[in-house]
Amino acid sequence: MSSRIALVTGASRGIGSAIAMRLASASTFVYGSATSQEGADRVSEMLGDSGTGIVLQVNDVDSVTAAVEQVTSEANLTILVNNAGVTKDNLFLRMSDADWADVIQTNLVALHRLCKPFLRGMMRERWGRIINVGSVVGRMGNAGQANYAAAKAGIEGFTRSLAQELGSRGITVNCVAPGFIETDMTASLDEKVKEQLLARIPLGRIGDAQEVAEVVAFLASEHSSYVTGQTIAVNGGMLGY
Ligand code: NAP
Repeated sequence: MSSRIALVTGASRGIGSAIAMRLASASTFVYGSATSQEGADRVSEMLGDSGTGIVLQVNDVDSVTAAVEQVTSEANLTILVNNAGVTKDNLFLRMSDADWADVIQTNLVALHRLCKPFLRGMMRERWGRIINVGSVVGRMGNAGQANYAAAKAGIEGFTRSLAQELGSRGITVNCVAPGFIETDMTASLDEKVKEQLLARIPLGRIGDAQEVAEVVAFLASEHSSYVTGQTIAVNGGMLGY
């Protein structure tokens, strides 16, 4: 019997997949989401007895409602990892309203929709962990990513505020802000951009999803009991913070 129940959004690939596996290795039963049934089936296969895949489009209210209903009818979830994210890059003057809205909805508005319904169960337990995945771009800004940077900066403010509201209930709320991590999201960057990014990373290499997952696992555990409202950077020293 697993001791805790978690939901990791965007667990089908990249950082979310590493987080789901890492939490599962720490005796947590993990609901890992994907946007399609095929992806959810792959998550179920990956997690085996330690979890299950579910379909969830975080930018679709009906999909969030259905996923929340499924999870809350089966389990009392006390760990929520808001990891799902997208980029739709363009210089601001060329950025369409649709691309602005989609990135804000998926990366930021979704947190409001997902945190709220799970809080009751965490309050009942007087124990909870909410971990939001931000980005170095939320502090640094990045030409071509005004929508993404706005959403990720918003996540940090949301995290600090929620931490203040929920501290007395035994629920911690933190943000993990990765730098440049090797996943599908960064695979399409051209070599010149990658070289420029690498030059700004003191550790001199791109990060691995597992390295982000380790920090999330700490924040999801009992060991982080006096850490809340924080943004932990996992970026190889980029920007020096
Ligand atoms: P990724 O490899 O592109 O994976 C994205 C994940 O999010 C997939 O599981 C995808 O599901 C899911 N997803 C996409 N749109 C969704 C939606 N509308 N509803 C629900 N799920 C959705 O990305 P990643 O690099 O692992 O990034 C994970 C998180 O880390 C994101 O929040 C990202 O902003 C952040 N981050 C990444 C980096 C980096 O360098 N990679 C740096 C800083 C921050 P499907 O497989 O079903 O499409």
